[in-house]
Amino acid sequence: MTEEVKRCTYTHEVSTERFDDLSTDIWRCPHDAHPKTNYCPFHLPADHGARSEIDYETTFMTVVSAAGTDEYSEKPERTRIIGARFPSLSLRFTVVDGDHRAPIDLRESVFEGRIDASNTTIDHALWLSGSEFHSTVSFAEATIYGAVNVKDTRFAASLLFDEAELYALDLSDAVIEGSARFREANVDQTLTCRGATIDRFDLERVDADGDVNLTELETSARLRLDNADIGGQVAANRAILSNGLWAVDLTVSKGVAIGDTHIGGPVHLDDATLEGQSRVNAATFGDRTFLRDATVETLLVSSTTFQETAGFDGTTFDRAEFRGTSFHETAEFEATTFETLVFVPNRTPRYVTFRSVTIGDEVRIAPESNHGNTDVRWLDLRESKLHEGALTQPKKGSVVYDLAGAEVGDVSFEGTSRGSLLSWYNLRRTTFDGFDFGDYRRELDEADWRLHDLNPSMEQVRRSITAVSDSPVDRPEVLETTYLKARTEAANRGDNEAASRFFRHEMRWRRKRHLSQVRSGHSVKRRLQGLARGVYNWLLGAMTGHGELSRRVVYSSTFIIVVFAVVYRATYAAAFEGEVGITDYLIFSAQTFITFLLGTAPASSPLGLRILTVVEGFVGAFFVALFVFTLTRSVNR
Ligand SMILES: [Zn+2]
Repeated sequence: MTEEVKRCTYTHEVSTERFDDLSTDIWRCPHDAHPKTNYCPFHLPADHGARSEIDYETTFMTVVSAAGTDEYSEKPERTRIIGARFPSLSLRFTVVDGDHRAPIDLRESVFEGRIDASNTTIDHALWLSGSEFHSTVSFAEATIYGAVNVKDTRFAASLLFDEAELYALDLSDAVIEGSARFREANVDQTLTCRGATIDRFDLERVDADGDVNLTELETSARLRLDNADIGGQVAANRAILSNGLWAVDLTVSKGVAIGDTHIGGPVHLDDATLEGQSRVNAATFGDRTFLRDATVETLLVSSTTFQETAGFDGTTFDRAEFRGTSFHETAEFEATTFETLVFVPNRTPRYVTFRSVTIGDEVRIAPESNHGNTDVRWLDLRESKLHEGALTQPKKGSVVYDLAGAEVGDVSFEGTSRGSLLSWYNLRRTTFDGFDFGDYRRELDEADWRLHDLNPSMEQVRRSITAVSDSPVDRPEVLETTYLKARTEAANRGDNEAASRFFRHEMRWRRKRHLSQVRSGHSVKRRLQGLARGVYNWLLGAMTGHGELSRRVVYSSTFIIVVFAVVYRATYAAAFEGEVGITDYLIFSAQTFITFLLGTAPASSPLGLRILTVVEGFVGAFFVALFVFTLTRSVNR
C-alpha cells in the first residue's frame, strides 16, 4: 500500500484588501502535508512536536525553486505560503531563483526567530505585508531583484538592509521597534515608509534612484539621511521626527517636501545639495536647524516656525522664500548667495544676519508686523551685495537695515516709519550702483542731506545685542568715504544737486579728518600738515562752499571789500585828500577788487597803499573767477 501524500489542510481568510490580487475569499494551501500531519511544514501549529525535526531552510528552498520545475511550471502560485510560521531561518549566501518571476508570497506570516538573509540573492518579489517578525531580520548585502513589500508588518526587533541592492521597498504602516537600517543600500526605485513607526531609522549613504516617501513617518531617534543620494523627491509630510534629522551632505534631485511636520531635535542639512523645488510648509522646527554651505535650487518656506536658531550660512540658493515664518531665535544667513531672496517673516528675531550675502537678482525683505509699535529689529546686511529690490519697513515696529560697507544697486527703501525713513538705514561706506537718491529728496532735504543720522533706537538695538560687538565708530574718515560714495553715485546718475550736497558733507568730514590728525598725528610734521589742510579746507568751505555755492563767493567778496576799506581808512587816510567818508573808502576798495585796473590810488600815494591795492586786485580777480566757476556749476544743475 502506497502512502498517498496528503495536501496541507490550512486555509487562510483572504477577503481583506491586502489580498485584492486573489479572486477567492478563502485561500487553501497547495503544499504537501508533512508526514503523519495535516499540515505542510509552514503551517504546522506553533506547538506541534514535528516542527523540531524539519529543516526549514531546505524545505523553503525546495518549494521556491521547485516552483519552476516541470511539476509546478504551470503553478507559480506554489511560491505562495500565506500565513506561514517559521522558526529562525538562515539563508546566508543563498541564491533564491526559480525559473519564474512569481513573488514569494508570505503575507500574514509569523517569523519566530532571527531571519538571516544576508548576502542572499533573491530573484523574486517578496510579499511580507501583515507579517510579524519576532526577532531581527537581516538582508545585509543581499540583492533582491523584485520589490519588497513589508506594508503593515511588525518588527519586534530590527530590520537591516545595510549595503543591500534593492529594486523597491514599501514599509508603509510598518512598525519597527528596533532599527530600520539601510546604510549604503542601493534602491533602484522608490523607498516608501508612509505611516510607518520606526524607532531608529538610518538611511545613511543610501542611494535611491526614485522617491523616498516618509509621509506620516514617526520616528523617535534621529532620522539619518547623511550622505544619501536620492534621485527623486524626499517627502516628509505630516511626519513626526522626535529627535531631529541628520542629513549632512544629502543629495536630492527633485527637492524635499516637508509639510505639517514636527521635528523635535536638531536638523543638520549642512553641505546638502537640493535640486528642484523644496517646500517647507506649516512645519515646526523645535530645535536648532542648519542648512549651511549647501546648494539649493529653490526653497519655499511658509507658515513655519523655527523655535531655535536657524542657520543658512554659506549656502547658495537660486531662489529662497520665507513667508509667514516665525523665527523665535536668531536667523543666520552669513555669506549666503541668492539669485532671488524673499524674506517676509511674520516674526523676526531681534537680530538677523545677512552679512556678506550676495543677491544677484532680486531681494525683497519686508517683515510683517506682529511686533509692538516700539519693537526694533536689526537686519545686518553689512558688506552685502544687493542688485535690485526693496527693503521695507514693517507696518508696526521698525527694522534697522544695516548696509554698512554694502553694495546697493537699484534698491528702494519703503514703508512708513517712526522718524525719518532714511534714519533706519545705516549707509556708512555703502557703495551705490544704480541707487536713486532722487526718490528720497524730501527726506534728504529734511535731514539737510545727512546720510549718517541714525535713529536713536538703532544704537540701542545694537548695544542690546551682545553677540555683535563691532559697531562702527563714527570716525571722520568713515563718514568722508560714506559721502564720497554717495556723491559718486549721484554724479554718475546726473543728480547734480545730490552730488553737490554730498560733496559738501564729504569735505566737512575731510576737514575733521585733517583736524583729528592735529591731535593724533605720529609726528609734529603730520600734525602741522593736518592743521594746514584743515584750515585750507575750512577757508574753501567758508568762502565758496567748496566751489558749490556762488552766493558764498559774493558774501566773502563783500567781506573782503569791507575789510580792505577798513584797512585803507585806518592806515592810509592821509593819502586820501580832503573830506572823505567811509563810503568813499568802500567804493575805492570795491573798484580795486572788481576792476583789474590798478593805480587808481593817488600817484603820490605811499608804497604800502600801492601794495595793498595790488593784493586786493589780485584777490578780487581770483574771486571773480571763483564766482564765475560756482555760478556755472549751479546753472548746470
Ligand atoms: Zn500549508
